[in-house]
Amino acid sequence: MNLGIEGKWALVCASSKGLGKGCAAALVAEGVNVVVTARGAEALEATAAELRKLGRGEVRAVAGDITTEAGRLAALAACPQVDILVNNAGGPPPGDFRQWDRDAWIKAIDANMLTPIELIKATVDAMAGRGYGRVVNITSSSVKAPIDVLGLSNGARSGLTGFVAGLARTGLAARGVTINGLLPGVFDTDRVRSMGAATAAREGKSIDEVIEGRARAIPAKRLGSAAEFGAICAFLCSVHAAYINGQNVLADGGAYPGTY
Ligand code: NAP
Repeated sequence: MNLGIEGKWALVCASSKGLGKGCAAALVAEGVNVVVTARGAEALEATAAELRKLGRGEVRAVAGDITTEAGRLAALAACPQVDILVNNAGGPPPGDFRQWDRDAWIKAIDANMLTPIELIKATVDAMAGRGYGRVVNITSSSVKAPIDVLGLSNGARSGLTGFVAGLARTGLAARGVTINGLLPGVFDTDRVRSMGAATAAREGKSIDEVIEGRARAIPAKRLGSAAEFGAICAFLCSVHAAYINGQNVLADGGAYPGTY
């Protein structure tokens, strides 16, 4: 299927690794020009070089912290126009809410709620002016079913999801702009492996045992891959997804136990 987005420009935040990288790769493979970002310049440049080898869209790399105003301005400046915005940032740490002070909450809300909202604010009116725009917010399955140790994520991402539910149903939709959440269950990325390493140390197991245990609890009996996550993202950004708006699309191998 031709996704019909060749030549468009995408800003894919937090994309030197993991899910963001998967989204950037899927978009570049469709001929989309992509700006990728991350704090660590070395891994980012390596990813940009890898993406360029796909030989399709142009790839620009902007090192910086997307949760800061300077980081966002630099990323936006590198993109001649933003037709597609993939919001992403690092996830908050696990823990017990009794340990989290105001700073911990502000950090989580900044990264997983206010940063995407700032980037949406900076881009959607121009998208609507051109008659085409796609915003995909990478959130989490925790938006549908809370994860006990990830209270910071449950809270901050629900704030973003609630805001977007309203925004997606304003006049932007009639002007070609869709805004959706893409909710990962458990995907095999550095973040999941480093959280697995912490569990392994706590429980005296190997990381592989922990990962296998997580996979057993998923109906698909495996973790998802960044490539398959990216493919869903690219479809949501495509011309074919114009009528999918204001939705929270769960990719979790069937782990969410609800009927709806
Ligand atoms: P990952 O493998 O750790 O990759 C995170 C990427 O984001 C890296 O490229 C990292 O590069 C970049 N990044 C992190 N903080 C950043 C910042 N402040 N500014 C710019 N770039 C930043 O993580 P992931 O598993 O792909 O997860 C991506 C998001 O999805 C996270 O919010 C995570 O909580 C959420 N999520 C993931 C899963 C899963 O199964 N993987 C499930 C639910 C939710 P630098 O560190 O160099 O900046």
